[in-house]
Amino acid sequence: MSDEMVVKFWGVRGSYPVPGASTLRYGGNTPCVELRASGQTIILDAGTGIIGLGSELSRRSKETGKPVVATMLFSHMHHDHTQGFPFFTPAYNGSSILYMFGPSIFERNLKELLDRAMLPPAFPVSLEEMNSLKVMRNICETDVVLLGEKVGGVAVRNIYHESVENDDSLVRIRTLRSYAHPDGVHTYRIEWKGRSVVYATDTEGYVGGDQRLVAFSRGADILIHDAQYTEEHYLGRRPGAPATQGWGHSTAAMACEVAKQAQVKQLILFHHEPLYDDDTIAQIEEAARRAFPNTISAHEGLEIRL
Ligand SMILES: [Zn+2]
Ligand SMILES: [Zn+2]
Repeated sequence: MSDEMVVKFWGVRGSYPVPGASTLRYGGNTPCVELRASGQTIILDAGTGIIGLGSELSRRSKETGKPVVATMLFSHMHHDHTQGFPFFTPAYNGSSILYMFGPSIFERNLKELLDRAMLPPAFPVSLEEMNSLKVMRNICETDVVLLGEKVGGVAVRNIYHESVENDDSLVRIRTLRSYAHPDGVHTYRIEWKGRSVVYATDTEGYVGGDQRLVAFSRGADILIHDAQYTEEHYLGRRPGAPATQGWGHSTAAMACEVAKQAQVKQLILFHHEPLYDDDTIAQIEEAARRAFPNTISAHEGLEIRL
């Protein structure tokens, strides 16, 4: 088994997919990030990027003769984070096992939300008709998700009321509930053998930096952070575009502020604005590096090994 933690970006665009010549460099698919550690596959969000990942997982499954087993973490249920799921081919394969975790929003559970997103006449196949074995549950800040053989695959422990195994081989996933996005959003921190990745998509910065997120991200190897807007756009100075304050997304400067205060090793700008072409995103990246040098803009296919 590989001793590396691998992070791969399959979809990096916010709001809606944008195929075409102006987005070839960074990519036009909506959010999906794959993380591999300790033989486990973790999938962050199910935007259209998950469609390509699905083909890759099916290919690997054929190659190894092992079924697809994956842990899916949903940040929230907005369309751009779920719209790829109906086209995620391993979900149709009866041998696949999908552990699906996400927030409870407005008291509706994850299953109801996904079910509703796939109801006819909007989509011809219901969630139940997808043959894979799906284990779904809501998680919150008091939970830790453990992955590994020592816990029989996947286990959820309440950190206040259950003993949490302290085994080096286990991947651990913690959640921060953020209110810096309409309807709220889950931020995830994934750790394994001293390595750590924080996934903070769909979040808007605060004056002085989001202090809860700073504490949650402290010392992480990688912080994946929303950086949808230029400051000009955010403030309503982009010609023809309204101000986007309060829409629940950050500027790159907000992302840099969190990265700096949390002393993370690398910042990955994520959830790019669909109106921006490749050159605009490259400019955002370049400006961000002046505030936090180890910064890159996520692009489709980007793979980082820790
Ligand atoms: Zn989004
Ligand atoms: Zn959203």
